[in-house]
Amino acid sequence: MRLPVIAGNWKMHKTMEEARALTRAIKDGAGGATHCTVVLAPPFTSLAAVCGETKGSSIQLAAQNVHWEPKGAFTGEISIAMLEDAGCSMVIIGHSERRQYFGETDETVNRRVKAVLNSSLKAIVCIGETLAEREAGRVHDLITQQLAGGLAGLTHQSLSHIILAYEPVWAIGTGRTASPEIAQEVHKAIRDWLSRQFGTEAAQEVRILYGGSVKPDNVSVLMRQPDIDGALVGGACLEAESFLRIIHY
Ligand code: PEP
Repeated sequence: MRLPVIAGNWKMHKTMEEARALTRAIKDGAGGATHCTVVLAPPFTSLAAVCGETKGSSIQLAAQNVHWEPKGAFTGEISIAMLEDAGCSMVIIGHSERRQYFGETDETVNRRVKAVLNSSLKAIVCIGETLAEREAGRVHDLITQQLAGGLAGLTHQSLSHIILAYEPVWAIGTGRTASPEIAQEVHKAIRDWLSRQFGTEAAQEVRILYGGSVKPDNVSVLMRQPDIDGALVGGACLEAESFLRIIHY
């Protein structure tokens, strides 16, 4: 019912030429995949180059951030129309690195999410706790707070624009993946929250991705969990070989 999503977040990696080469290799190995939606999220400077290479395949293009205003004096920012123009169908919002290093809050996540609702884009909204929050037993409170803040004002109809990504901060780039049981437990709590807010039917439609040191050798067991609908991959998406093994989990 929920088509899985395997998304690669390239972060601040790859020049345009490197981006073209990586995309070509991924397209050759997975361009015709129908068991999941493959998403590539290169830096802004490579969006058009990656878009050019993905033509004729089902690979989707995502940006790593977007501003909520349609245009104006916002030096360094990128608008939704610009992303649409560059060929994007998705955008990552509220990644923990944006929250940690660039002052992203649930309130600014919510502004970006609301702006996306009036566009052709889908938002991949990231949430997740730090190690200190997990050790303090605050996972559920924190997840609830991020969901309530980031999705404030949304209706069940607008959920069709939303993909969620549960990314425990302690698992990102650390090689320390959440166990399938831990990930499933939080994914289920997220879906239960969505059911309470928007109704069961709408909640059942939302894809919830897991992110945090997903690798070729742990992706299958994660994907077998009933509420895990895909992966948001950082480090292992930068080489075609490992990303293709994840896509063909
Ligand atoms: C990420 O940055 O979204 C991520 C999950 O990174 P990694 O796979 O490297 O942990």
